[in-house]
Amino acid sequence: MQQTPPYTVALDAGHGGFDTGAGCGNLHEVDICEKTVDKLFTLLENNPSFCPVKTRENGEGCSISDRAKKAGEEKASLLLSIHMNYDPSTSQSHGFECFPLPPGRTWSDKSMEIAHWIAEGMGNEGHRLRGNNGIRFAYYSGKRKIIVDAEDNKERTLKSFGILEQVACPAVLVEQCFISNANDRKNWTTEEGCQKAANVYYTAICQYFRVDPQAKPEPSSPLIQENW
Ligand SMILES: [Zn+2]
Repeated sequence: MQQTPPYTVALDAGHGGFDTGAGCGNLHEVDICEKTVDKLFTLLENNPSFCPVKTRENGEGCSISDRAKKAGEEKASLLLSIHMNYDPSTSQSHGFECFPLPPGRTWSDKSMEIAHWIAEGMGNEGHRLRGNNGIRFAYYSGKRKIIVDAEDNKERTLKSFGILEQVACPAVLVEQCFISNANDRKNWTTEEGCQKAANVYYTAICQYFRVDPQAKPEPSSPLIQENW
């Protein structure tokens, strides 16, 4: 894992290929994930302290283990997995939540740190933070998903999301908004909405690595004029 800049940041757009994730009419989760990842990729690419990589190409399917492998091969210092939430039972559920690697893992504390910056940024943009502060832990007991608020920091052997458990660096999975909620769709899934989310993630990544968000690449050296 790279400890000095440029930091490799692995961006994982949820789902892909035949797996389009949750859907609402002709709005597909995977498209919003990819759109947000593209915007965040551009922001990171323009800062000399970062080297963004994608865990998969747009439009392609990819297994969780191959995504984690890609991040590892690229020596990622951080992985951000971007998803949209969906509630089949009611269109009222809304807001933001994110899932750092749970307690007791090598990168738990660092994962919590980046989650904190992201949730704070979303709150500052007026997004509703679900639970106490938008940070939760997810566990699987068989097929059943158990979600607890981050205050419940008991160490559990139950596994969390595969991408978090398999990648060898700090990692957070975000649920950007509910695509089953009209207001969330309006604010967080459009071009502007995805850009706003990407800006929040970018600022949080800069805070986490203590990097100036305004830093620009060195201008290329001017051509030397030869005077004959
Ligand atoms: Zn998803």
